[in-house]
Amino acid sequence: KAKSEGRSTYHFFETGMDADLQQRRTIEAGLRLALQRDELRLVYQPLLGLQQNRVICVEALLRWDHEDRTVSPTEFIPIAEETGLIVPIGEWVLREATKTAAKWPGDVRVAVNLSPMQFKTRDLVGLVKSALADAHLPASRLELEITESLLLADNEATLNVLHELRAMGVRISMDDFGTGYSSLSYLRSFPFDKIKIDRSFMRDLTDRKDSQAIMEAVIGLGRSLGMSTTAEGVETEEQLAMVRAQGATEIQGFLFSPPLPPAALLSLLRAQVRKAPEPDRPAARPP
Ligand code: C2E
Ligand code: MG
Ligand code: MG
Ligand code: MG
Repeated sequence: KAKSEGRSTYHFFETGMDADLQQRRTIEAGLRLALQRDELRLVYQPLLGLQQNRVICVEALLRWDHEDRTVSPTEFIPIAEETGLIVPIGEWVLREATKTAAKWPGDVRVAVNLSPMQFKTRDLVGLVKSALADAHLPASRLELEITESLLLADNEATLNVLHELRAMGVRISMDDFGTGYSSLSYLRSFPFDKIKIDRSFMRDLTDRKDSQAIMEAVIGLGRSLGMSTTAEGVETEEQLAMVRAQGATEIQGFLFSPPLPPAALLSLLRAQVRKAPEPDRPAARPP
C-alpha cells in the first residue's frame, strides 16, 4: 500500500511539473507575438507628493491582454527577461510612456521600470535620447526605476550608463528598496534621486513596531542623502497618516489611486490643474 501511495504522489508531482512547464511555454510563445498583435498596453498609477498635495509623478505599468485574460507583469516579466524579449518590450514601454506623458498637463513626470537586461544588451542612453526626442518630452520629466538586482554585479559599465542618464537630466529611482540583501551599499555606489520603499514594509506598518522603525529609518536616510522617499502600497488612511508623520515625500497605492488607463489618468491630471493652477502656469496671465 505504501508503495502505491508513493507512486501516485510521484505521479501527481510529475504532472504538476509538466503543467508548469507547459504553462511557461504557452506564455513564452504568446509573448513573442504580443508586440506585433498589439496586445500590450500601459496603465498609469499616480504618485502623490505629500508636501505639494498633488500628483507629481506617474508610474507606467505593463499589462498584457492575452486570449481571455489580462496577464500580470509578475507572471510574464520574468519570462520576458529569461528569453530576452524584455529588450524589444522595454523599448516599446519607454516609447509609449514618453509619448503619453507628453500629453499631460503641467510638469508631471513619468516613471518607467527598467530591467537589468536592458542595460546589458543595448545602447540604453541612445534609446532614451531617441524616445525623448521622438516624444518631444524633456529629460527632466522622465524617471527610470531600477531594482537592486541590477546593481548586483556592481559593474562600472552599469554605473556609467546611470551617470550618463542622470547627466542628461533623467531621474533615477531605486525600486522595491529593502527587499534585496545589500540595499544600503547600493545607496553608496550611486546617487539615486528617489528611494521607493517596498510594499512589504507597508503591509504590517500599523501593527508592527519593527516595520515602523525600519520605515522611519529609511525615510530619514533618504532625507539625509537628499533623496525623495516614496511609500509604496499605501492602502489605508491609517498607513497614510503614519508615513506622512514619518516624513515620506510621496505615496503610491490603492488608497489614492490604482493604476489607470491613459484616458482616466489624463482626466485626473486635468482635474488637478483646474482645482489648483500651478504658480508658474497662471490660468490667465495679464498681457
Ligand atoms: P513595481 O515597479 O514595484 O510596481 C508597483 C506594483 O505595485 C504594481 O504592480 C502596482 O499595481 C502595485 N501596487 C500599487 N499600489 C498598490 C497597493 O496599494 N496595494 C497593492 N497590493 N499593490 C499595489 P504590477 O502592475 O502588477 O507590477 C508588478 C511589477 O512588475 C512592478 O513592480 C515591476 O517590477 C514590474 N513591471 C511592471 N511594468 C513593467 C515594465 O514596463 N517593465 C519592467 N521591466 N517591469 C515592469
Ligand atoms: Mg516600479
Ligand atoms: Mg515599486
Ligand atoms: Mg514592487
